[in-house]
Amino acid sequence: MEGTLAIGKAWILHRKNETGQCSGRTLDEAFGHEASRLKEYIENGPAPEVFSAHLEILEDPLLHDTIQRNVAEGMTPAEAVKAAAKEISGMFNEVGDDYFKARIDDLRDVCEGIVEYLDETCGNPFENLPDDAVVVAQELFPSDTVKMDLGKVKAIVTRKGSTTSHVGIIARSRGIPFVPGADIDGITTGDLLLIDAGNSLVKINPTINEVEAFRNMMAKGNEVPETMIQSIRENGVKVLGNAGSIKDIEEAIRNGADGIGLFRTEFLFLDRDERPSEEDQYQIYKEAVEACQGRPLTIRTMDIGGDKPSPGLIIPKEDNPYLGMRGIRLSLSLPEIFKEQIRAILRASAHGKVRMMLPMVTRVEELIQAKELVEECDSSSDLEIGVMIETPAAALISDLLAEEADFFSIGTNDLTQYVMAADRGNASVSYLNDPLDEAVVRAVKIVVEAAHKKGIPVGVCGEAGSDPEVAKVLCELGVDSLSLGSPALIKELRPL
Ligand code: PEP
Ligand code: MG
Repeated sequence: MEGTLAIGKAWILHRKNETGQCSGRTLDEAFGHEASRLKEYIENGPAPEVFSAHLEILEDPLLHDTIQRNVAEGMTPAEAVKAAAKEISGMFNEVGDDYFKARIDDLRDVCEGIVEYLDETCGNPFENLPDDAVVVAQELFPSDTVKMDLGKVKAIVTRKGSTTSHVGIIARSRGIPFVPGADIDGITTGDLLLIDAGNSLVKINPTINEVEAFRNMMAKGNEVPETMIQSIRENGVKVLGNAGSIKDIEEAIRNGADGIGLFRTEFLFLDRDERPSEEDQYQIYKEAVEACQGRPLTIRTMDIGGDKPSPGLIIPKEDNPYLGMRGIRLSLSLPEIFKEQIRAILRASAHGKVRMMLPMVTRVEELIQAKELVEECDSSSDLEIGVMIETPAAALISDLLAEEADFFSIGTNDLTQYVMAADRGNASVSYLNDPLDEAVVRAVKIVVEAAHKKGIPVGVCGEAGSDPEVAKVLCELGVDSLSLGSPALIKELRPL
């Protein structure tokens, strides 16, 4: 699959975390420096939402008070910041809540930035990153992706993290193969590495024959097969983009996307202490519509829950979150909050072509209730409302859903995991996570037939659409669009 194979030399990230001598810089200067750095990332970085959350942490009185107390107890500023990070992380950890646990990384990232500035021996740890590097690290933070020159990065390998982490999503949108959860103990800087991210493989110092075979595989694997291009064109399939930020939208459109088939709005909810207001959301959606330059924007309502905790929304801890309060279920259980999002989407729709899409639907009633809420917000609205087909239930009742929906979008990531009863993040059952398994193909067939019988369009927005072999099958099954996460692939496939 495109963007999953790479060859490069290992470059091990060493973070300079010596206590060191204080550089003479004051805490106020360090906080000011960190604030302007974060503001710049918000303006120009790949994931502004993430850094907005970091800025909120930087401004949190708890952090300031704890540092001041530590200084009063005789610590140097750098020591005081480190100790504060440790103490507050401990508090977050004790809460035991997934949300607070997730904030620990953000807190450490921010504090690391302050300490780096305070400690004159520390600079940008990626300053000497060579060309064609495979960055190998215990763990990477979102801000690292801004500090490193991504143009020099062939691949990223980390011990911690997952493909759905922020770093994973940023790497994917840049077409950089990413292998989280890797055993990095045997790797040293300068080792030649073969990376097959699709299969989570890292081969250290391969033989010449292995390199040659891998290069052949790359030539085939990274080249978009003519069959994929042909089946898209012959079947008149639209090529759309998946996005998690305004930058993603701009890039997809610049590369010829016919529109945005999936704008993941939960990013706006994930990285803040408070949920974004209707006005906050409106401003972002408006910017998103404008970035589409007249092409349609499909806004997915918040897909919170499952593995995605959210601040400001109290979700009880669940034993089996993928089968719990996720997506539309959560939104409908919080109608006033859901209506804030609906109103923001309706307001943004005045600026261009906007469609609203509901995640994790299992029953027609959920769609009807969502439509009623839209009606409550604006009784004259003609907003197109579609559903994601991500559950076996939705596929099986797709004829009934088609009576009420304006469009379908098949989320093959979740549809495959639920049809095959195989956690999409569990490497032990990854052999079952196959969108070409007969069971999944049958589900897709049912959905396409139901949609077309009712005359509504059906697209695919899961990762499977980027796999040439799967994409060909999907086109032959009659899907009307493929929404893809990689701008480079969109460029290759853009219609003539
Ligand atoms: C999907 O499930 O295929 C999908 C596109 O949604 P997400 O990956 O965000 O769950
Ligand atoms: Mg999904």
